[in-house]
Amino acid sequence: MLSAPSGAGKTSLTKRLLSICPEMRYSISYSTRPRRDHEINGVDYHFVSKESFMERVAAGQFVEWAEVHGNLYGTARLFLEQAVAGGHDCILDIDVQGAAQIRTEMKKDGVFVFVLPPSWAVLNERLRRRGSDSPAEIERRLDGARREVERYGEYDYVIINDDLDHATRILHAIITAERARAWRFERSPAREMFGAEAAAAGMP
Ligand code: 5GP
Repeated sequence: MLSAPSGAGKTSLTKRLLSICPEMRYSISYSTRPRRDHEINGVDYHFVSKESFMERVAAGQFVEWAEVHGNLYGTARLFLEQAVAGGHDCILDIDVQGAAQIRTEMKKDGVFVFVLPPSWAVLNERLRRRGSDSPAEIERRLDGARREVERYGEYDYVIINDDLDHATRILHAIITAERARAWRFERSPAREMFGAEAAAAGMP
């Protein structure tokens, strides 16, 4: 689970990570936010109307959802279930409210990472340079960022995104270490199929 204030560089970080770990699956959220020019429906988000979003909420189709900067965002339950059943680790880009909703449900399985911009000045600059949001929207995002950043202590890891390559290496290292946690081996297929002998021989 990745959270970060808008402009911290989370989208670029996610794309980099997926190029290194193509076996991971990115959870494409549903959103009522207007699509930005460069965004593709069904790739960046599933853009839906508020009515359609609320119908999905009522049908229990989201594992979590939240209102962020005046728009609704939600994570599709079906996508996650299918990805996990296929043996894939998933990466979710969700805000602090969404992360709080699933933290209990995920138990040890979820790894929560907060991405920070190197400074407020850089965040401000990135949001303005992006050019996709109105000045009022940028102000709203900066305000939201101040509140979100206060909650970084709820996360397992914090990455300061001062340099994309460096931040990607840290994120990759976190994933690699988390995959190697001893408790994950307790339910590995090799153990079930071949018993302790295979596990001792280093089979996953
Ligand atoms: P943006 O509009 O800049 O793409 O995203 C705004 C915020 O919504 C970001 O903090 C992002 O992490 C969050 N967000 C995106 N998808 C979801 C989601 O499915 N659930 C929740 N709770 N937040 C989301």
